[in-house]
Amino acid sequence: VSIERFHGFFTPVCDYCEARLPAGESFMEAVDIRKQAGWKSRKDKHGDWEDMCPECQEAERNGTL
Ligand SMILES: [Zn+2]
Repeated sequence: VSIERFHGFFTPVCDYCEARLPAGESFMEAVDIRKQAGWKSRKDKHGDWEDMCPECQEAERNGTL
């Protein structure tokens, strides 16, 4: 997952808490929205992309995720 496509709109979704950002009209716009919101994108251990919102990044740093 990470960016969901729905009726032509692209919505960034946190893979940990399922928080969502406002949808973009293109994949690139959604990537931009995600970057501006301070989200991180990385590959998980299976090689799939996952997105993490700032709250989940913080929780991971604190070891409470
Ligand atoms: Zn999250």
